[in-house]
Amino acid sequence: MRSLIAMGLSAYLSVTACAAEIPLFDAHIHYGHDIWDTISPEKAIAKLRKAGIRKALVSSANDDGTLMLLREAPDLIVPALTPYRKEGELAIWLRDESVPAYLEERLKKAGYVALGEFHAYGAEADLPVVRRVVQLARKHGLYLHADSDAQAIERIFQQDPNARVIWAHAGNDPAHRVLAMLRKYENLWCDLAMRDRIAQNGELLPEWRAAFAEFPDRFMIGTDTYSVGIWGEVEAHAASVRRWLSGLPSEIAERIAYKNAETLFSRPPAGSSGDPDNK
Ligand SMILES: [Zn+2]
Repeated sequence: MRSLIAMGLSAYLSVTACAAEIPLFDAHIHYGHDIWDTISPEKAIAKLRKAGIRKALVSSANDDGTLMLLREAPDLIVPALTPYRKEGELAIWLRDESVPAYLEERLKKAGYVALGEFHAYGAEADLPVVRRVVQLARKHGLYLHADSDAQAIERIFQQDPNARVIWAHAGNDPAHRVLAMLRKYENLWCDLAMRDRIAQNGELLPEWRAAFAEFPDRFMIGTDTYSVGIWGEVEAHAASVRRWLSGLPSEIAERIAYKNAETLFSRPPAGSSGDPDNK
């Protein structure tokens, strides 16, 4: 009896240890100028590592923040390029005609994998500046990291049916709406930053469990560290993510935790010069 209890306990501990150790690829990190004033690059990287974040897709307003982290930890940081040159440009970038030239020039500075995160909702996705960003992504073989509603995502795919889009926060849409979009667009992936309500008391809601089972390759975790306060919660957030991940079959949990992002962002750029499909 005693040994059975011991066996049960050790099995329980090994499951818990396994869940605790699952590495994370955080697909939604920012390190903006109001953050680096308070948290040094060295400290920011230490926070990510302490949380067991193996890799992070980082975009920052301005982009110097991303490059500082990249210099500090090239093994950890996967750079993305946002159109924002300072905090607070979420609404004005859409009509700032200097954005495309800025992005094109800036792309020479590092091996960026994505343009974004940017914010565009509804018909804003068809504004000329946003169209140019979609074209730039196509030209350079980059993902688009879009904080958008479903309508804006539809408009992006109308502009470029071959676009590859990371849908920030899964559009803040309910699971059935997200599923409809994933069924319609095979080049659409979701980050789950700021979607803590997909789980209650550490248990995934059934509709999200079903969504992950249907599309295990299309979801990634994320934190969205847009403030100093959220940088202070990176470790606790990682723990809460691991809690609901631990309730999934391990193969699906590993994909959402890090494998999907690893697969996406290690792919060589597909649309850069020389690719006849993207002229
Ligand atoms: Zn964000």
